[in-house]
Amino acid sequence: MPGYELWSDQERKEVNDVLETGILMRYGFDGPRKGIWKSRELEEAICKTFGAKHAQLTSSGTSALTTAMSALGIGFGDEVITPSFTFVASFEAILSVGAIPVIVDVDDTLTMNPEAVINAITPKTKAVMPVHMCGSMADMDALITICKENDLVLLEDACQSIGATYKGRALGTIGDAGTFSFDFVKTMTCAEGGVAMTNNEEVYTKCDGYTDHGHDHKGADRGADLHPFIGYNYRISELHAAVGLAQIKRLPEFLAIQKKNHALLKSILEQVPEVSFRRIPDPGGDSCTFISWFLPAEEITRAVVNEMNEQGILPGNFYWFDNNWHYIRKWDHLKNSVTLNALHPDSKRQVMEQAGKDFTASDAIMSRCISTSISLLWTEDQVREKGEKMVAVIRKVLSAAAIPA
Ligand SMILES: *Cc1c(COP(=O)(O)O)cnc(C)c1O
Repeated sequence: MPGYELWSDQERKEVNDVLETGILMRYGFDGPRKGIWKSRELEEAICKTFGAKHAQLTSSGTSALTTAMSALGIGFGDEVITPSFTFVASFEAILSVGAIPVIVDVDDTLTMNPEAVINAITPKTKAVMPVHMCGSMADMDALITICKENDLVLLEDACQSIGATYKGRALGTIGDAGTFSFDFVKTMTCAEGGVAMTNNEEVYTKCDGYTDHGHDHKGADRGADLHPFIGYNYRISELHAAVGLAQIKRLPEFLAIQKKNHALLKSILEQVPEVSFRRIPDPGGDSCTFISWFLPAEEITRAVVNEMNEQGILPGNFYWFDNNWHYIRKWDHLKNSVTLNALHPDSKRQVMEQAGKDFTASDAIMSRCISTSISLLWTEDQVREKGEKMVAVIRKVLSAAAIPA
């Protein structure tokens, strides 16, 4: 899964280019930087690699989401539909622009259920934000249709699915805007960083200014720039961009290893007929950072998790149902709307209402799901050994469950 596993001389070289000049900032200092523009180069590489017209680097995936939302005009009075299974950053970003996260159920794709999206639309709905979780995709055709029919903005949180595609197009480049995270554990890393991508030039220009205090970047120098609107500082540094520049060149290698290891592990898990797998709307487009699988019932899944823990093979296997970063069930801070900055009382009430809804349909999926992260470092023998140990645990639990009490 993470590009940090294959840290190499290529990353060191790119970072050293920046250390040589000492110009660590992405804007200005044109003379002393001696032609070294790592952030610009990485933005160009992102456009070329993923087929986006425009890319704006940011300090994180979270700030990329906030930036994209602001540039798309999402804010006070708006509702943004987003799934119950994601990373907390998704709703953090929605709250950061003053909008209300409207949380909907996921289905067996582990991404938002299009039917649930339709049922959640109100006159206040402004945007739909699918989250392409664990390396694979939402049902984009269905979501595109819903957004077109209801005149809604489509913003893809593709932070976890760098390099995945849907019908030949890179995730994150299909909607009105899309984001990647380059944090330390993502498919490729900058240490910290993110990007907002769009094919709309006006949205891009807004992203560019927003991440740098509203600078229009048209002046002869930074002091001469105008500020057509208010922005923030969500800039990436040249050191971070340098790491990403090395990593994006190696992305095809990372993806090829993931696909190979994923296919082998899947072929082993498939030996157990009771194990089923996540539905993938375009199977060829899976980036294979994780393999996500289901057992027939919650009790069996819990027993498998416990047994893997006892045998010391749990690390790298994620039972999201009990996880407080990724699944609604444990988001108490959201359910109680605990914020440091005071929200408008109406917003606070709406946030609590949305997070407090019934998510039985999501529970039925997530309580039976385990995701196994795919390492770039595994040898073929290690994948086999891992898979066989997992199969033995599953068989043991299933046979114990089959014995009548
Ligand atoms: C990692 C992640 C983010 C946020 O990225 P950071 O760079 O860590 O801020 C947003 N959404 C999802 C789904 C993520 O996995």
